[in-house]
Amino acid sequence: MDCTVKVSELIRKNVIVGGVVQGVGFRPFVYRLAERFGLAGIVRNTSGTVEIDVEGSQEAVEAFLIALRTDAPKAARVDSIMAVDADPTGRTGFTIAESCAQTPSSACIPADIAVCSDCVGETLASDNRRFAYPFTNCTNCGPRFTIIRRVPYDRSNTTMAAFDMCAQCESEYRNPIDRRSHAEPIACPTCGPMVWLEQDSRCTETDAITIAAKLLRDGKIMAIKGLGGFHLACDARNDEAVRELRKRKGRISKPFALMVKDLAEAEKLCEISEEHRKLLTSREKPIVLAEKKRFADVSEHVAPGTKLLGLMLPYTPLHVLLFEHSPAALVMTSGNLSEEPLAFANTAARQKLAKLADAFLMHNRDIHVPCDDSVIRPVDAGLAIMVRRARGYVPAALPMPCECECILGVGAEQKNTFCLAWDRTAVCSQHIGDLDTAETFDYYQYATGHFLSLFGRKPKILAHDLHPGYMSTQYALTRLGVELVGVQHHHAHIAACLAENGRTDRCIGLALDGTGYGLDGSVWGGEILNADLSGFERIGCLSTVRMPGGEAAIRDPRRMAAAYAHAAFGSDWIACVEHLSINFSKLELSVIERQLQTGLNSPLTSSAGRLFDAVSAAIGVCSERTYEGQPAVELEMFAEGTVGDYYNSEIKTENGCMVLDTVSIFKSAVKDRLAGTNKAIVAGRFHNSLVHLLVQACVMAREVTRLNLVALSGGVFQNALILGRLSQELTDNGFEVLVHRLLPPNDACISYGQVVVCASQYQ
Ligand SMILES: [Zn+2]
Ligand SMILES: [Zn+2]
Ligand SMILES: [Zn+2]
Repeated sequence: MDCTVKVSELIRKNVIVGGVVQGVGFRPFVYRLAERFGLAGIVRNTSGTVEIDVEGSQEAVEAFLIALRTDAPKAARVDSIMAVDADPTGRTGFTIAESCAQTPSSACIPADIAVCSDCVGETLASDNRRFAYPFTNCTNCGPRFTIIRRVPYDRSNTTMAAFDMCAQCESEYRNPIDRRSHAEPIACPTCGPMVWLEQDSRCTETDAITIAAKLLRDGKIMAIKGLGGFHLACDARNDEAVRELRKRKGRISKPFALMVKDLAEAEKLCEISEEHRKLLTSREKPIVLAEKKRFADVSEHVAPGTKLLGLMLPYTPLHVLLFEHSPAALVMTSGNLSEEPLAFANTAARQKLAKLADAFLMHNRDIHVPCDDSVIRPVDAGLAIMVRRARGYVPAALPMPCECECILGVGAEQKNTFCLAWDRTAVCSQHIGDLDTAETFDYYQYATGHFLSLFGRKPKILAHDLHPGYMSTQYALTRLGVELVGVQHHHAHIAACLAENGRTDRCIGLALDGTGYGLDGSVWGGEILNADLSGFERIGCLSTVRMPGGEAAIRDPRRMAAAYAHAAFGSDWIACVEHLSINFSKLELSVIERQLQTGLNSPLTSSAGRLFDAVSAAIGVCSERTYEGQPAVELEMFAEGTVGDYYNSEIKTENGCMVLDTVSIFKSAVKDRLAGTNKAIVAGRFHNSLVHLLVQACVMAREVTRLNLVALSGGVFQNALILGRLSQELTDNGFEVLVHRLLPPNDACISYGQVVVCASQYQ
């Protein structure tokens, strides 16, 4: 403190800093700042905020308040600074108070942060005491969400509690000016977790990572324990290894993600824009989808049927060390059997992955809650589609449009997440998966329970989908002592998009996805809504066609081609599918014929996803689905982006509802294809036609509703061609367009939409 300042010239402020300010080295930062400006006082963590009691000369206090924002640690995000005057006491010295347990807010629980460059430097420096140590971390980086058992976020409440700090780590931890001051997962080779290799029931501690790297070079498949779970890894340039991994995992053609040594390696494989670079090197380090270079040196089995590769950079010191000796591009896919949740505990992983991996790279820092890698697809400058939101992003809070009781949105069935909201905060869970397997549903219940206890909340209301068959709906219906609110699927989509953008006004909502339970009991999925947060009216939809065989039609795109052909060509549909060389057996043909005529086990659908399936199968792009969304993904990949024209189609009005004639688009595409047009051109024209028709529908809707705001949601908006062109054309037509930026447009956003709708209805 500056001793020349008399008490009368001192000022004192009680300051509350809100945002992501806990678990990111904020208190030590405040301490250093106070020292710099010669201020006295104390800093402490409170319920989700940081509280500072500070005094000194007016000039110094003011400079301090500015620097709180401008000089904050990289991992922090300062949302608000509130400063209230108080009477100066004339005290000296500045201290950091221990945190006290209170009802936590989401800000108490930071997301996991990719290893920072300082820690990478230390891990690779032979004269550093953390040389070659795979668990190096500091206040700017390291595990958080995945190791926290309960709040407040102190070491004793994490899985690091099992390790006693050595004297050196302890002194770094206690030293307010050290980069590791109050870094809860602080560790070193003397006191922290360790890594070992397990192979053929032998266990090796020395050089475990180097041996693992050699096994990878030799074409072996490794199970590698990482930050949020196990990966299965192999050399991405080794055809044999990648094929073997597909075989063992039971994953026929769904693309694998890659981890590459560095940016230079990423640039060898893919077209990397500035946007890609930013995301790849961000502190979240997600998997970034990028266009594969023409002659990229990577096994063709990594991502068949798509021109995109999912790339990520090493995000833990363990990965960094692995790449010192391993091949420069590794397949890194979730350590599980297809459709099962991620393995994360050592014993379970040993059992589950025994038949999948040749060896295990293990460690003894427990993962308390698993978290998959996040996936992002950049579209244009400043526009990126979140495809899967998990590691690095969860549990960052989302905005709530209004104050609310404690609500749990239980989510949808596919790509499930759940969402917990209270006061004006919503926290969406990490990607859980498809709830149709017992393992995933178990994981769902575990993760839900963990979330509720982590945030110390007991929901009063459960918001659920209207589909009675969803496991999430079943979960809600069997809870006792809570109020239940059903939210229509596509309304949840649009509400999520509005609320995420901080909007509460009414809009034209375009909800395009695969399946959602409609108010009339039919399968919706190509919907135009006049909606706000609390209610909606369905003002338009795509043509409705049958789904011959129900679920079977979702799994088999040929069936949707048959249904659309039936709608387009009537009884000539069989001749049509024969011309298109879609191979059905005689029996299949007669069964489908009967289903289409009688409607037996063949519900009606207006689904956009099913339209993509139908076109994809009909024009010969993808007639066999081995993973969800494959026909649509491949149709987009096939589409020639330079094509500008489209097939004409009309919008009719039935019972006051617009019907967008997608059957005639299908018909034109089929005729075009049968006339010998290249399927890439047909695919391009199909995309344009749908965009054109949707824009026309919005223009018509605007005439009636006077609404100029359009919100886009649903899995179809993972299609960059549709998203990019539709937003552009809507903007050109004077519309204001909202897209998802924080959450995926697919069913991962449903849980958030559910709590938003529910909260707005209760307001
Ligand atoms: Zn670090
Ligand atoms: Zn230590
Ligand atoms: Zn949906």
